[in-house]
Amino acid sequence: MYTVAFLGLGTMGSGMAGRLLAAGFSVAGWNRSAGRADALRQRGATIAASPREAATNADVVISMVADDVAARRVWTAEDGALSALKSGAVAIECSTVSPDWVVELAQLVAARGALCLDAPVTGSKGHAAAGELMFLVGGDAAVLERMRTVLAAMSRATVHLGPVGSGARMKLVNNFVCGVQAAALAEGLTFAEACGLDPAAATEVLANGAPGSPLVKAVSARINARNYDVQFLLPLMKKDLTYAIAEAQRWGVPLRTAEVARDLFDSAIRAGWADADFAAVAEAIPGRRVIRS
Ligand code: NAP
Repeated sequence: MYTVAFLGLGTMGSGMAGRLLAAGFSVAGWNRSAGRADALRQRGATIAASPREAATNADVVISMVADDVAARRVWTAEDGALSALKSGAVAIECSTVSPDWVVELAQLVAARGALCLDAPVTGSKGHAAAGELMFLVGGDAAVLERMRTVLAAMSRATVHLGPVGSGARMKLVNNFVCGVQAAALAEGLTFAEACGLDPAAATEVLANGAPGSPLVKAVSARINARNYDVQFLLPLMKKDLTYAIAEAQRWGVPLRTAEVARDLFDSAIRAGWADADFAAVAEAIPGRRVIRS
């Protein structure tokens, strides 16, 4: 069994690290806000004072943090994980980050004689806690084979998409489509409500008809209940759309629907919903506010 360092014990990381513990791996966790690591400590993990301390002697180092800025900090700061990475260890970037960052990380990792996978995930809080994520992996197939048992403890499936950067690109394509769906759903439900349709009936039609993706099914229920307990923090969806727009632009594809969706998520942040689930984008739709008042 490998010794695993797990950096970032937020909504996703805490569930994922818990699955590794349950599968019998030895886990050294770290989180920027120490209090958020308490639950994992109670489940048997060692909690380190820095990413560097967590990574010392680890065979595998996993990062699951908010964005490029956070990932750069946990890997490259003076007390970052890279400075302790063993030769032959495997660094796995699971955060949703830009392809540029994971390609740079892979170079930094290689310079230490270690190996790198980019492995962002689909699925949300419940899937992380239940070990039912899907890994979208970029990197060497042989390294992925070595990591199968680690990834299997946290997932129902792993898809190998190509070299490092491919996982990050696929994740941005995925969340671009999800973000646009969520924004369209927020507008659609507001439209239905504003013109006098019964919200429950409208949701039933959308969720069970052609638009009824798993996302539409789950998010429409949260919008109708105005239940914005965090499954996926709203600013993280704005971040994903921002990275997707930039990456697609580089390949000559202007994501115009993503720009509109990003503006709606930004409006929700400015209206005070930055600490809420991304379903709260519905509160940024003007007609919805009129109905509520
Ligand atoms: P979260 O609950 O907000 O956790 C974010 C984590 O990043 C926390 O551990 C946070 O530390 C850390 N962090 C933020 N800024 C940092 C910095 N500057 N330096 C060090 N650590 C920093 O988010 P999450 O839902 O677990 O998401 C983690 C990643 O998974 C994100 O890239 C997200 O886009 C992706 N993702 C999320 C979902 C989902 O449904 N939630 C699904 C798939 C992928 P603190 O606790 O100290 O703030």
